[in-house]
Amino acid sequence: MVNVSRISRPLPHIEENKLYGPYFKGLQENKLMVQNCTECGHVQWPPRDFCYKCQGNSLDWKEVQQSGKVFTYSIMYRAFDPWFKDKLPYAVVAVELEDGVRMLGSYFADDVESIEVDMPMKASFNHENKDVSVLTWVKDNTK
Ligand SMILES: [Zn+2]
Repeated sequence: MVNVSRISRPLPHIEENKLYGPYFKGLQENKLMVQNCTECGHVQWPPRDFCYKCQGNSLDWKEVQQSGKVFTYSIMYRAFDPWFKDKLPYAVVAVELEDGVRMLGSYFADDVESIEVDMPMKASFNHENKDVSVLTWVKDNTK
């Protein structure tokens, strides 16, 4: 049975995920952080224990641009969690940043169905509580 009294957003359990730690810390500081290979310079997302390009394991983190374009998307018409029920329809969007990485995030808008590939987007940081922030995308009307 669904607990209808719970209205909080489902959030990642960041304390259980060391690999994504710098990413979540970045969100808290309104930054987008991705892995960077110190051996070959490859920038990668999502994070891994090794570099996709050279297979090396000398990885650190760098801040990347907060704007990009829609690479692909899917519009949701059914809520996987009660919190999303009054947000329908919304989109899950892969935005390609200028650095070449693609990041997933939700996109909530009254005209969500007008989303299209190559639409300019920018990051928005939703500080859900003192420990967890979530990336969402908003239309970048400046471009
Ligand atoms: Zn590398």
